[in-house]
Amino acid sequence: MSAKPKVLITQKVPETVQNYLNEHCDCTYWDKEGTMPRAELLEKITDVEGVFLSGGAVDTDLLDRAPNLRVVSSSSVGYNHFDLEAMKARGVLGTHTPYVLDGTVADLVLALMLSAGRRIAELDAFVKAGKWQKGAVKGTELFGMDIHHATVGIIGMGRIGEAIAKRAVHGFDMNLLYYSRSRKQDVEDKYGARYCSLNELLVESDYVVIITPLTPETEHMIGKEQFSLMKPTAFFINASRGATVDEQALIEALNNGTIRGAGLDVFDVEPTPIDNPLLKMPNVVTLPHIGSATDKTRYDMAMLAAKNLVGALTGGEAYVVQELQGIGNI
Ligand code: NAP
Repeated sequence: MSAKPKVLITQKVPETVQNYLNEHCDCTYWDKEGTMPRAELLEKITDVEGVFLSGGAVDTDLLDRAPNLRVVSSSSVGYNHFDLEAMKARGVLGTHTPYVLDGTVADLVLALMLSAGRRIAELDAFVKAGKWQKGAVKGTELFGMDIHHATVGIIGMGRIGEAIAKRAVHGFDMNLLYYSRSRKQDVEDKYGARYCSLNELLVESDYVVIITPLTPETEHMIGKEQFSLMKPTAFFINASRGATVDEQALIEALNNGTIRGAGLDVFDVEPTPIDNPLLKMPNVVTLPHIGSATDKTRYDMAMLAAKNLVGALTGGEAYVVQELQGIGNI
């Protein structure tokens, strides 16, 4: 029997995932909180064939230190941390965890829409600060905007985009517009979605949601010009990656009243610095990149990432990212 492949696991994983990995691989684990620091990763990666991680650059610096590396398994669906060209050049497969997190991320997007539109976070703080006094609230000052029957425009109609569409249409009777790289007839049939140009979507939507991957094509896809097309009453929701949006342009659009508010799970720099002006804006809901962060979904992602690692190392099944399919033995 051949020796088990040596692998490095750079974050804590549930016990059943560990048991599975131990069955198939010779594992070295990071068992402290958080993720293995970069310096230690660079040191420990020198003789492994596989690595399990969920972020941090997989770049030439890392790859050059890992002559035996064959598989990088990311416990995430997004893989903008992969240097795809460098991995391709070295024949290193990269895998990710699609499908298992769609509903969880879509739930969070609806939560951001509701929280921004109905001012949940802002008014929770208002009540807790003791500002809800008799006679203190007059007129329309605490009013928000409806979700139901409003128009949502989804940019990036992929797996998560469709899960958002389903909730928006079946749950909230929303009108649905979308813009994506390719047209999705099945989504149009199922949810009455209308495909349109990015500009049309921005002009017509009450809620603009971006959920594309971060790629050279989508980097800063939304900037000053795009915000200027949006309604002054509209909300902007980002659960993709911070860099799909020009954050300075977003700050300006919010400061100038070009748009009404925003719901953000992702930022240019993460963790976002405490002096980011977005953190001072009551009309902006800010979250610490928790799109897939539920117990069940993070467990499912870790198990799928473990199976991808084993599958890709042994010529079995694995979710190899599209750009690297066909470069190895699967
Ligand atoms: P997916 O199924 O690949 O969907 C992405 C969609 O974006 C696809 O429909 C794709 O078009 C479209 N797209 C790609 N490039 C585009 C472009 N230049 N212009 C317009 N549309 C473009 O991916 P997914 O599983 O839904 O995940 C999407 C992204 O969400 C991930 O890559 C990740 O960055 C982000 N995410 C964030 C969190 C979080 O915690 N906030 C959690 C999970 C995922 P085609 O259909 O033509 O390929």
